[in-house]
Amino acid sequence: MTAANETTKVQIPGLLHKLGKMTSIRDTALLEQSLLKTLCPMLGVLDSSLYRIDDLAMSTRVLHHHLSRIVEPDGVARLVERTEEIFNSSSIASDVRQLLDNVRLLSKPCTRRRAQSEDLLIAYPLYGGREICGYFVFSRDREVTLTEDAIIKGVLEVFANYYDLLDVSQRDRLTGLLNRQALESSFERIWTILSRSTDPVGTADPRRTPTATHAHWMAVIDVDHFKNINDGFGHVVGDEVLLLVSRVMAAELRSSDLLFRYGGEEFVALFSAATREDAAAILERLRESVEQHGFPQVGQVTVSIGFSIADPGDLPQQVLSWADRALYQAKRTGRNRVCDYQALVEAGEMEAASYGGSELF
Ligand code: GH3
Ligand code: MG
Ligand code: MG
Repeated sequence: MTAANETTKVQIPGLLHKLGKMTSIRDTALLEQSLLKTLCPMLGVLDSSLYRIDDLAMSTRVLHHHLSRIVEPDGVARLVERTEEIFNSSSIASDVRQLLDNVRLLSKPCTRRRAQSEDLLIAYPLYGGREICGYFVFSRDREVTLTEDAIIKGVLEVFANYYDLLDVSQRDRLTGLLNRQALESSFERIWTILSRSTDPVGTADPRRTPTATHAHWMAVIDVDHFKNINDGFGHVVGDEVLLLVSRVMAAELRSSDLLFRYGGEEFVALFSAATREDAAAILERLRESVEQHGFPQVGQVTVSIGFSIADPGDLPQQVLSWADRALYQAKRTGRNRVCDYQALVEAGEMEAASYGGSELF
């Protein structure tokens, strides 16, 4: 048996233990970190990265894992782990980008020598179903052995299967849209993404009068008189209407926008638009496309929409409650309408409210 095989053999119980720990995680972001923490020590590398082609991030998201050896003042050496997420895929180095292109085109692991270094850059594909949904990348001074190769592939497969399972719990069964749990559990991540891609340009208060090209908006969309549809045509037809409404709306949004089924006949959309007028126009188009769709048996179905700017400086729950208040106003003033929370407040048609704040008193 070779030395490399010996090493691997010794590491297998530890690896199994880590796999066990990995599959006890219930959060996709933690699971990704755990993958890198599992593979780094096994490969004897200090740094590794996971590149994810991510629905939520509208691009490739990069998770870096660094282990650094720190010598404390008392002379004791310690390993410090650090993971960081990068949302701007344009910062991917060109040698890495070329390597990932080859992995994608060949659907197999690829290696290249790093510029001005003896080290190799090694990348493995990560599969979500049959599609490549990411890459595991690390750098090392030697090639991967056959045993290591088998272990990396095995761990990546366990990871991908488990990731899919977790992902399924984030989707609504009827429409396939992301569900309320997905929205609430990823609020923090979505907000981080928003704060990185929002680019407010100097106005006195860019939060309320966005001049940025990438302002983000949150809309709550509710089917009008849906109870009547259920009562008149039965739940099966009601379900079909929900599915059709979700498809008609999704077709009006860009693939980078996010649409959630928040509850029964209630949806939440997160999308970008340069100005309030643009955001209103997008939602108006969405409202109109539902109104004009011919629904089997039922005929016409309409939706009411309330929306608010989604500024990363505000709490996501706050933004959601603003959009919900605007929706309430749309219902109150006739349904099949789009209402803008900030516009309502400015026009004096609605009092400003803060989430969980003074409105309680
Ligand atoms: P409004 O215009 O004020 O929104 O009236 P509405 O009838 O749409 O609102 P209401 O909240 O009174 O009724 C919503 C109904 O949606 C009640 C519930 O039975 C139904 N519903 C919730 N989830 C589902 C589902 O998954 N399938 C079906 N078929 N019906 C559902
Ligand atoms: Mg309704
Ligand atoms: Mg409702």
